[in-house]
Amino acid sequence: MNDLMFPPEQHESNIAPWLKTLWCSLDFERFPNAILIHGQSGVGKFAFAVELAKALLCESPYSAEKPCNQCDGCHWFSTGNHPDFTPLVPETHRKLLPQADYESDEPAKKSRTSRGEDDAEPSEKKERKNISIEETRSAIESLSIGSHRGGNRVILIYPLEMLRSDSANTLLKSLEEPPEKTIFILLADRVDRVLPTIRSRCRLLSAPRPDQAEGLAWLKTQLGAIPEIKVADGDVEAIYNEQGGAPYAVLESLIARHNKDEKDELTMSIAASRILLQSMAQGARINWLETAEKVHKAQYAFLLATMQRWVSDLQIVIEGGVPRYYPKHINTLKGLSQTAQTLKLLQFWKSLVQSRRSENHPLAARVQLEALLSQYQQVFEA
Ligand SMILES: [Zn+2]
Repeated sequence: MNDLMFPPEQHESNIAPWLKTLWCSLDFERFPNAILIHGQSGVGKFAFAVELAKALLCESPYSAEKPCNQCDGCHWFSTGNHPDFTPLVPETHRKLLPQADYESDEPAKKSRTSRGEDDAEPSEKKERKNISIEETRSAIESLSIGSHRGGNRVILIYPLEMLRSDSANTLLKSLEEPPEKTIFILLADRVDRVLPTIRSRCRLLSAPRPDQAEGLAWLKTQLGAIPEIKVADGDVEAIYNEQGGAPYAVLESLIARHNKDEKDELTMSIAASRILLQSMAQGARINWLETAEKVHKAQYAFLLATMQRWVSDLQIVIEGGVPRYYPKHINTLKGLSQTAQTLKLLQFWKSLVQSRRSENHPLAARVQLEALLSQYQQVFEA
């Protein structure tokens, strides 16, 4: 059985319904040199940006709808061979780009992934999540050559936050003096992490998150097209809330789960976040040492986000509201709200926010987790 790919092949519309308004606001005739699309991770920015790149490279002079999916430009793009499209994405995101022979490429990719997690040096693992300097340099250098097909050139960079500072400086220079007919599509989950000097040279587009009904409806349609994935509606909803209402993140995690790719980073992070939640549900009785040991290998940013959601829900319950992320755990949260000290909870929240500033480059994640979870325990101690 072949692994399923993401996003599933779809030709009707690659733009998620909640991003349609944003799409319609774009003027392809007078497009800015650089745009920065920002918004929560998993709301569909990447798929949106890929479709946008395709539209900007579409060569049809007649079609009102872009991309036309008929012309040579669209064809080259769909097969992953457009010479004027340069995606700068880390290895971990490359599979999300259009490519012709994905399946034949898969075994090689798989073995590389499974080796990566266990034996690889931590630095190598980090490298996979970064955009390499060499790539950035050669991409920027290639801009001077000009367009191969005589139209636009499009450079897509995601996630912009993961660009090393030397690469960011190279990028900045191109943004200051943009080569002719070159369009930069930059993507960031956290716009506050983007260098202000880069930000100020881009038109900013904010990608919204759908409301729950719309997001779930979209997910149902997507899952309907992948009959191999069998998952109860209740489970989809639970995962949906767990992922902070980001439909693409849910779909990706369901596909990863179906592919039973235990090494998959997201699957691992979800499993770790479950353990983390079970532990935090213990309040004062949390075994923070053991918990940190169990979860510290998962993505640090993911763990921090889980903690933030939990604390946010706890705060809401203390104020008499309904939890947003973990409505199923309302009774646990109510129980915890009896002993939680609001001032200490606020301090813990501040520590989490502080930690998120270095979430992509955590030093000694395990020690930091121990410190955070121990602080969490104190929230419930008199
Ligand atoms: Zn076209």
